[in-house]
Amino acid sequence: MKPSDRIVVVGAGPVGLCLSLALAQAGVPVCLIEALHDDNFLEQVPRAGTNHPATLEMLDRVGLYQRLEPRGIIAPLFHYWDRREGKLIAEFDHAHLGNDTRFPYVLQCERIKIVEEALALARVHPLIDLRLATTFERFEQDADGVTAHLRDPAGEAQSVRGAYLVSGEGARSIVRKDLDIEFEGFTYPDRTLNIEVAYDFRRHGYTERNYISDPDEWSNLFHWKGPPDRWRVHFPTRPDDDDAALTRPEVLQARLQRFLPTGKAFEIVNCNVYAVHQRVARKFRVGRAILAGDSAHVNSPIGAMGMNSGIHDAFNLADKLIAIMRGETDDGVLDRYERQRRHVALEHTQAQTMRNKRLLAEQDPAVRRRNHDELRRTAEDPALARTFLLRSSLIESLRQAEQIA
Ligand SMILES: Cc1cc2nc3c(=O)[nH]c(=O)nc-3n(C[C@H](O)[C@H](O)[C@H](O)COP(=O)(O)OP(=O)(O)OC[C@H]3O[C@@H](n4cnc5c(N)ncnc54)[C@H](O)[C@@H]3O)c2cc1C
Repeated sequence: MKPSDRIVVVGAGPVGLCLSLALAQAGVPVCLIEALHDDNFLEQVPRAGTNHPATLEMLDRVGLYQRLEPRGIIAPLFHYWDRREGKLIAEFDHAHLGNDTRFPYVLQCERIKIVEEALALARVHPLIDLRLATTFERFEQDADGVTAHLRDPAGEAQSVRGAYLVSGEGARSIVRKDLDIEFEGFTYPDRTLNIEVAYDFRRHGYTERNYISDPDEWSNLFHWKGPPDRWRVHFPTRPDDDDAALTRPEVLQARLQRFLPTGKAFEIVNCNVYAVHQRVARKFRVGRAILAGDSAHVNSPIGAMGMNSGIHDAFNLADKLIAIMRGETDDGVLDRYERQRRHVALEHTQAQTMRNKRLLAEQDPAVRRRNHDELRRTAEDPALARTFLLRSSLIESLRQAEQIA
């Protein structure tokens, strides 16, 4: 094997790791570069964590599902609530997808657990050359391959050669910027406040995943496995809110008490504030350089589609790179990757997460009533509920992508 027969993957997030495992398990060597190191790899801020059925099938393919299931919560149901009325609007049950997937539920299992388990598999795979504490700086490409320029743990400049370079670097992708690819879209003026609380909200009728509409302060409420078990509550902020003021303990407590008046202080485990973007790269591929995951698209977390669709990119791309490296096809197939996954990013992930936000934040009482009636009708009719769940779980996006030549 020549060094140039391998794939250089930048970023050991969920996307870079899933791609590396799928490639290596099919016999394709990988050099996986990650800036974080053993001491801080697991100290990343709370992020995604709802894994949809189609994603679970993919995680199973690389041996991750069985490692993650015991660390997560199986959640067949999700709820829409009307905060103003204090009422459950609709309950959706993934059991309607019994004939569509082997996993008719989501697994609530945080990104950090996924990267921890995937990293453990990557460390021991003989075809993965894992370089932690190594920063990717720039690259160049020619007719035969790519050269990635790195800064190693000692601060020395290094370079690695490969056949293709995949950017799994996340939203700030250097590869995307170096290729001058526009990240088209917008950033919402309001940011999201995430508070993690050790409190069992099920005693108030909530299920493991809840989307709560309110014209003044919509929210999301999700359950994560501990110890201690935690619930993540999302609230919108105003554009001029100051982070330090928003996250003062007494301010967090007051906000939680307005959401659910218990009269007793909540045990707050964690909190952070983050900006929310809707952006899709104009191109996902230039020659031998390819974007995947957040480096190619970012979206609002309402609906849990960011990490899921990134993992779907990884597996779509893995299959194409495997076929190329085995000499079964030429690399024109990478243009199909771009057509398929860009379509999904725009027409499914972005469109659906924007609809989700509008639904939760709707101000007009008549429109809210109409929306809620429609959700109720949909959840109560098995055929309509299945169609809704195929869309919300991204199965429909994968089926449509398969139709794209
Ligand atoms: C605060 C926050 C909250 C979120 N909440 C949700 C949610 O609730 N639901 C949801 O679906 N999505 C959510 N997301 C999005 C979700 O986390 C991402 O879609 C997902 O993590 C993307 O995976 P990725 O592997 O593409 O990139 P990342 O997870 O960002 O991983 C990129 C990796 O690349 C490494 N890296 C970056 N640059 C370099 C470099 N130059 N050299 C070497 N290594 C590098 C980074 O250290 C990192 O390990 C959230 C994101 C943020 C920021």
